[in-house]
Amino acid sequence: MCIFCQIIEGTIPSYKVYEDDHVIAILDIAQVTYGHTLVIPKKHCNDILDADEETMAHIAKVLPMLSNKIVTSCKAKGSHIISNQGEISGQTVDHLHFHIVPRYKEDDAIIVKFNETNKPELSEVLKTING
Ligand code: AMP
Ligand code: ZN
Repeated sequence: MCIFCQIIEGTIPSYKVYEDDHVIAILDIAQVTYGHTLVIPKKHCNDILDADEETMAHIAKVLPMLSNKIVTSCKAKGSHIISNQGEISGQTVDHLHFHIVPRYKEDDAIIVKFNETNKPELSEVLKTING
C-alpha cells in the first residue's frame, strides 16, 4: 500500500488540514513555505490520467477553497497549485496529489519559471498535438 493510502487509512500519522468523503489535505512533511499543503484523493490513483471524473470534479472544488483558506490564514500573497505527473516532472509519490504552496516573497524556496528554450513553428506543434 502506498504511503498516502497509509496516511488516509490512519496507519501513518499526518497533520490534517481538511477531510471530506473524497479527499484529505495534509501538511507536507517538507514545508517548502509556511502552510505547504497536499490535497490527496482518498481513492488511490497514480496520477491525473488515472483519476476518475468525479474525483477530479471534487478536487476542482476543494482546491480553490483550501488555497484561499491557507493564503488568508497564513497571510500569504498568493500560491502555487502544482501537481507533478510522472517521475520526469518530479513526482516522487505515485498517488495523485496537488501541492498548495503559499507564496510570501520573491525568494521563497520555490521557483517556477517558464524559460523559452527553443522556438518551434507553432503550427507544427499544433499538428503534433492535434494530428
Ligand atoms: P511529489 O514529489 O510531487 O510527488 O510530492 C510528494 C510530496 O510528499 C513531497 O513534497 C514530500 O515532502 C511529501 N511527503 C512524503 N511523505 C510524506 C508524509 N509522510 N507526510 C506528509 N508529506 C509527505
Ligand atoms: Zn495510494
